[in-house]
Amino acid sequence: MKHSEPDFEVGIIGGGPAGSSMAAYLAKAGINCVVFEREIMPRPHVGESLVPSSTRVFKELNFLPKMEEAKFPHKFGAAWTAASDAKVYDMDFGGVSADCHVDVRFEERDQPGVAQNYTYHVDRGKFDLMLLQHASGFGAKVYEGVGVTGVDFTDPNHAAVKYSIGKKEMSTTCRVVVDASGRKTLVGNQLKWRIQDPVFDQYAIHTWFDGYDRRVMAKRKETMGDFIFIHFLPITNTWVWQIPITDTVTSIGVVTQKKNFAKSKESREKYFWECIKSRPELYEGLKAQGSQQIRAFKDEGDYSYAMRQLAGDRVVLVGDAGRFVDPIFSTGVSIALNCSRFAHKDIIGALESGDFRREAFNTYESTIRRGTRNWYNFITVYYRLNVLFTAFVQDPRYRLDVLKLLQGDVYDDAEPAVLTRMRSIVTEVEKNPKHSLHGFLGDLTANAFAEAHSD
Ligand SMILES: Cc1cc2nc3c(=O)[nH]c(=O)nc-3n(C[C@H](O)[C@H](O)[C@H](O)COP(=O)(O)OP(=O)(O)OC[C@H]3O[C@@H](n4cnc5c(N)ncnc54)[C@H](O)[C@@H]3O)c2cc1C
Repeated sequence: MKHSEPDFEVGIIGGGPAGSSMAAYLAKAGINCVVFEREIMPRPHVGESLVPSSTRVFKELNFLPKMEEAKFPHKFGAAWTAASDAKVYDMDFGGVSADCHVDVRFEERDQPGVAQNYTYHVDRGKFDLMLLQHASGFGAKVYEGVGVTGVDFTDPNHAAVKYSIGKKEMSTTCRVVVDASGRKTLVGNQLKWRIQDPVFDQYAIHTWFDGYDRRVMAKRKETMGDFIFIHFLPITNTWVWQIPITDTVTSIGVVTQKKNFAKSKESREKYFWECIKSRPELYEGLKAQGSQQIRAFKDEGDYSYAMRQLAGDRVVLVGDAGRFVDPIFSTGVSIALNCSRFAHKDIIGALESGDFRREAFNTYESTIRRGTRNWYNFITVYYRLNVLFTAFVQDPRYRLDVLKLLQGDVYDDAEPAVLTRMRSIVTEVEKNPKHSLHGFLGDLTANAFAEAHSD
């Protein structure tokens, strides 16, 4: 019996950065693909500051000129600030003192394949729409306002993506399905692959301000206005992001642990302002004449998780649909884009060979697992022994290796040496209650490396 041809070669669920970059890569290579996006774009979204490894994807997709035309603020670096009464710590492993007020510029380290010394901050409504339109320009079919309800994998010859239009149940067949549904993790939920992160249970509340002078917290006011700022708060495991959206609009978000987060909307907003007040200059800047809140508060909750597998027979998970790691280093969009950079090659290979078993997507799965494991460990160190991060950034022996991680170049090493070094210091400090840094251990990621160092 001759099998009928599927409607599309590849069906992509979700039109965020993961889905639209995947569609762009595939359509550019001449693959017949379709994107199902449940929202009508543009829609607002959290995750507004990129890291430079996203530039490779923009370049490969001929998207850089559009990023420039859109005039998104250029992001030249990142800065971390501490409350003014923060102590200065002496690191006895290298004589380095860290005052928890550090910054990096991306131009300090050349990145292979990246010719510019900045990346971007983006209004996600605008950026996501542009990237989806770019994919459509290469020939990808895009259905907006179509929410996928599930995928039927029972037919051995194709997968069927199910959705309803009005009251009518419909389905579209394809050889491979890409789940790019973000934190909704459609396929991961359906196949019961999702594992909640045992450690991170962060919540965030965020909004936009117009007219806030974002240089008030900068050490070098002339050159750091368009950096991302992470302001540490005196409250454990709590920090604030400050991200430029336009010349005058700034995104401000508080990230904290679930236990600090009240149920009612009013008390969450009160909590936002209490947190901001713990950094008086920031509070005064946001409340100054000429600065006003221009968006309603939005919150995001309990977001860290992994998936048992990132691919299966006829299916690949990309972006947040595959894994979510705490956003402290602004990694999400870049990971989403790089998922497509790696996964589209395996998908094209599978279409050419006709082999759609999970093994066909092995290269993608192992590459992304390596990258996100590095991110995860880096973030774990950060929360466990914050002063170590700032000390390493300031230490010339380690600075460029840390910068490499911050630039998003995490995929090529099984574990970068700098991370191994940081992890072993954390273990040393944990084991020795008399260590000068012992008192600075955070509780959130306690003993997270114990297993790896059980020797
Ligand atoms: C508090 C917080 C702060 C963050 N800050 C940053 C940051 O500064 N920088 C950064 O890079 N990242 C940040 N992130 C992460 C970033 O938001 C995500 O990693 C990024 O959006 C992932 O892109 P994606 O395409 O995988 O998913 P999304 O951007 O979420 O896109 C998924 C799309 O799928 C659609 N969809 C969902 N379900 C269905 C369905 N059933 N059918 C059809 N369509 C569907 C959705 O409507 C959505 O458009 C942050 C995240 C959080 C929670």
